Amino acid sequence: MSGRIVAVFSLGLALALGGCSSVPDEPAAKMMNASNGTSAPHGLIIHGGAGSGSRANISAEREASMRASMSEALSAGYRVLDEGGTSLDAVAAAILILEDAPVFNAGHGAVFNAVGSHELDASIMDGATLNAGAAAGVSTVRNPILLARAVMDHSPHVMLSGDGAEEFAREQKLEAVTPDYFDTEHRRKQLEQRLERDRRASDKPSTGSKSKVSSDYFGTVGVVALDREGNLAAGTSTGGMTAKRYGRIGDSPVVGAGTYANNASCGVSSTGHGEFFIRHVVAYNICARMQYRGDSLETAAGDVIMKELVEVGASGGVVAMDAQGNIAWPFNSSSMVRAHQSRDQAPRILIFKNE
Ligand code: ASP
Repeated sequence: MSGRIVAVFSLGLALALGGCSSVPDEPAAKMMNASNGTSAPHGLIIHGGAGSGSRANISAEREASMRASMSEALSAGYRVLDEGGTSLDAVAAAILILEDAPVFNAGHGAVFNAVGSHELDASIMDGATLNAGAAAGVSTVRNPILLARAVMDHSPHVMLSGDGAEEFAREQKLEAVTPDYFDTEHRRKQLEQRLERDRRASDKPSTGSKSKVSSDYFGTVGVVALDREGNLAAGTSTGGMTAKRYGRIGDSPVVGAGTYANNASCGVSSTGHGEFFIRHVVAYNICARMQYRGDSLETAAGDVIMKELVEVGASGGVVAMDAQGNIAWPFNSSSMVRAHQSRDQAPRILIFKNE
């Protein structure tokens, strides 16, 4: 265990021993925050993708890398919040680490599309203002989450795609890389296996299955954070789905589907079969159930993921947090890499069901 990871767990332990084991949702807790500036509830929740990973098909080495990177991301995001930084900065700090980690399907380590290249998507949203930024189909921007943030902060637009997005990234002086920077051997093998499976499947009669893409390990990353000012933010970054058609854009950069944040309800980041997440407007769907129906976060997120999506055969999950710091992380796939840390909750990193 690296020194940095030990530090994260020590911090969590210290917080846990501090006496709080559950996230308070009393308005009084928030007022206290404003007055002393030190004890406002704050925290973040992260996913590293939903998919069909089980203990049997994820190597111990890969699992350890995922847990180490999640721990690092949690620590980086939490530090921003703990020091009084904004939820937007915490989301970006955590996603930056996961984009650079080869084990996740975002940034370095992103999946290959059907023609053997990478097209990356990302988005970020500010729950205080409903400002949002997104980038889709980029292949030379090292950290697409920074591009999404720049679109939000420095352009009059919400989403830029392809060449125009790359040109804007250069204007913003964001780090550029050659597309092979994103390559990893693991993802290349995944592409080869997928293309081979598709070839075999095309020789057989169709089964009429509703989900035309199987739920292999996905690996997208996403974060929702709540800062000391009570502001929520959410962000998501991905390489999309293995062997996707060139030009395909998934849910991750689509505000309302892959990412949504509104202080009046909650923040959500999605992972799973993007076409379904777009059709069911998953992230906004969850927030709207809270805002207009008065559902709790747990009910809203659980109903969308475990009922609405299950009924149509869609695989995936979300991480979500409301303005009181309550969290939900339902998933209907066999695994979802997920982590949480807050003022009152020590760091937790989970991958499989029933962990
Ligand atoms: N939702 C992403 C997409 O469809 C994939 C994932 O979450 O892993 O592009």
